[in-house]
Amino acid sequence: MSFDSLGLAPALLRALSEAGYEKPTPIQAAAIPEVLAGHDLMAAAQTGTGKTAAFSLPVLQRLAGDTRTEGRRPIRALILTPTRELAAQVQENLRDYGKYLRLSSTVIFGGVGMGNQLQALRRGVDIVVATPGRLIDHMQQRSVDLSKVDVLVLDEADRMLDMGFLPALKRILAAVPRQRQTLLFSATFAPEIKALAQQFMREPREVSTAPANTVANTVTHVVHPVDAANKRDLLLHILAQDSRRQTLVFSRTKHGADKLVRHLEQAGVKSAAIHGNKSQNARTRALSDFKTNRITVLVATDIAARGIDIDQLPVVINFDLPMVAEDYVHRIGRTGRAGAEGQAISLVSHDESGLLRDIGRLLKTDLSISNVAGFEPSSPLRLDAGAPRPKQQQRQPRSQGGAGQGRPGGNGGARNGGTGGNRSPAHRPHGHSAAGTGENTGNHKRRRQRRGPATNKA
Ligand code: AMP
Repeated sequence: MSFDSLGLAPALLRALSEAGYEKPTPIQAAAIPEVLAGHDLMAAAQTGTGKTAAFSLPVLQRLAGDTRTEGRRPIRALILTPTRELAAQVQENLRDYGKYLRLSSTVIFGGVGMGNQLQALRRGVDIVVATPGRLIDHMQQRSVDLSKVDVLVLDEADRMLDMGFLPALKRILAAVPRQRQTLLFSATFAPEIKALAQQFMREPREVSTAPANTVANTVTHVVHPVDAANKRDLLLHILAQDSRRQTLVFSRTKHGADKLVRHLEQAGVKSAAIHGNKSQNARTRALSDFKTNRITVLVATDIAARGIDIDQLPVVINFDLPMVAEDYVHRIGRTGRAGAEGQAISLVSHDESGLLRDIGRLLKTDLSISNVAGFEPSSPLRLDAGAPRPKQQQRQPRSQGGAGQGRPGGNGGARNGGTGGNRSPAHRPHGHSAAGTGENTGNHKRRRQRRGPATNKA
């Protein structure tokens, strides 16, 4: 199977070949013909499967083939993503794939000033990639016109629902034309995703290349039991085995991520944290320092990590296990991408035994548990039904993700008619809430970064 045989235009084929893509990934092979044929599409695809190109390529092709470009260009494609990082990443991909097409795109997300976004919208763009909260802000200000949208993409729809964006999505869906093509990409087809599709899509084709909640089979999972107090030293011990290896480390909390970075820096490991309390500039800088090897360790919280795209990351370390097993799948999506080998190492303390059990059950795969000499835990992990779970994080509804959280009213989702509201306990087990969004909401005034999501040639 080649990209050529999928019916993609020469301009796209040239860009793909320059990007080093030799053949389509399974999700691309399945999705691209359906989208080019004009069907609505529900695609079950997790991060790392090439899902961005699976929708970006046919969308670019469809738009390029439509020549009504007289006067100011209306927005013809709208791509919604849960986080700023993912929005930026998607637009970067659109730019790469569409570099030989005459299409423009812009990215719209919170946490930065409105100025550049307003300018871009005023100039007119073909494609908007947006996070829901900030898009609603623009809709309220009437600075965005969605009435000519032909294609709507919901990327990581499951995560958008997790983050309480359903009300925002409904408002956005009401603002785009009924006659449109809708593409929904989601790691899982949970019942609420199906309900969304039923309400807003027309006879969608379904494609799925990996069963829901599985991770790439090129990833090996290693669990090291360790006492919580010794985790930092064990992490240093693992990092020391290959001090030049780029490593993504996950922390459950923002505070924990910062503490860990301080510890790593003291030990001489160049590192930075990426989480929702960091300004957008700091997040962008940390990611770029990591990509260019100026730092070797990036410590991320779950939501901030969405959309991080780093080629062939060899290893991901879970310093803490996530409270929700599905987040393990998203974390691990950062390694073993596009067929490469990857390793997922989890440092697990006795009190996280219950979380490990959840993950094992979700993955239906064996997690190899091995002690590291010198770091053997004082109490072994328990994988029975009564296994303990960490207590202190269970009620931190605003602890992950968007800046502006942790303050009353700081969740601008609520300000925007509940766009960032809490997920019901029924959705998030163990009382954990993902109310935080990777996108900022209520505090643009406090933080006035001006990183310019200016219009770019798509
Ligand atoms: P995604 O699942 O969209 O986040 O993509 C995961 C990674 O795979 C990204 O780094 C893409 O650039 C890369 N990728 C996507 N499609 C292909 C392909 N057909 N061949 C090689 N790499 C790809």
